[in-house]
Amino acid sequence: MPTILGIPLDVNSSYLRGPARAPQKIREALHHDASNNWSELGVDVGATGAFNDAGDLRLNDSWEKISDDFVEIERAVGELLKKGEQPVSLGGDHSITYPVLRAFAKRYAELTIVHFDAHPDLYDEFEGSRVSHACPFARIMEERLAKRLVQIGVRTLNRHQREQAEKFGVQIVQMRELPVYDQLKIHGPVYISFDLDVLDPAFAPGISHREPGGMTVREAIAHLHAIEANIVGADIVEYNPEQDVAGMTATVAAKILREVLGKIIAQK
Ligand code: MN
Ligand code: MN
Repeated sequence: MPTILGIPLDVNSSYLRGPARAPQKIREALHHDASNNWSELGVDVGATGAFNDAGDLRLNDSWEKISDDFVEIERAVGELLKKGEQPVSLGGDHSITYPVLRAFAKRYAELTIVHFDAHPDLYDEFEGSRVSHACPFARIMEERLAKRLVQIGVRTLNRHQREQAEKFGVQIVQMRELPVYDQLKIHGPVYISFDLDVLDPAFAPGISHREPGGMTVREAIAHLHAIEANIVGADIVEYNPEQDVAGMTATVAAKILREVLGKIIAQK
């Protein structure tokens, strides 16, 4: 069964704080009376027992104790995996995906990550930090926590990150190459990492790094629906309530969450 886990951490954000407050806001939007809880694929995500909610982790969210927080994230995700659940974490900035994947790697040797993002997040280090939200996929690939990494929606590729992608064998599908539905039929277990800034800021202004020219909500949902694989977990990261306009990005995050949960529930 999919299980939501809130990860309130934004100390690894390079520019703005805010995503630590995201998990509760996304939950509120998911349960809001303005919408029913059926996914577009015909799953009643709101049915009793359709998914679990493990609540929010208690973290320090400080530079001094970042290794403690990463250990705690890995432990909590590992516990859900041990119970046979599919963890769907709500970030938090994107740095959380690294400790989450450390837990997944212990259970799945042949994992493919499908990563939605305006940014490749492949920096070796960023502004002196190797655990910045600009770095998680460099750490993940260095430690071989996934067999394959497919990035979709990238539109900020620079020379350093292109070299990193080549070094690690990352498959980058840039925004201008969409759609790529045919490349989403994947053999083996899949983890979805969804950075909300993959969306055009016109649809999702509540993020820290607005990068125009992104996906419509419809394009993102169409690519999520096109994933043919066994989805074993997911994260939705980088929602920044401080930057949001009338809560519209929380509504979008909840919509993406509902579609991800619906896909996981439907595959059983
Ligand atoms: Mn990211
Ligand atoms: Mn991003």
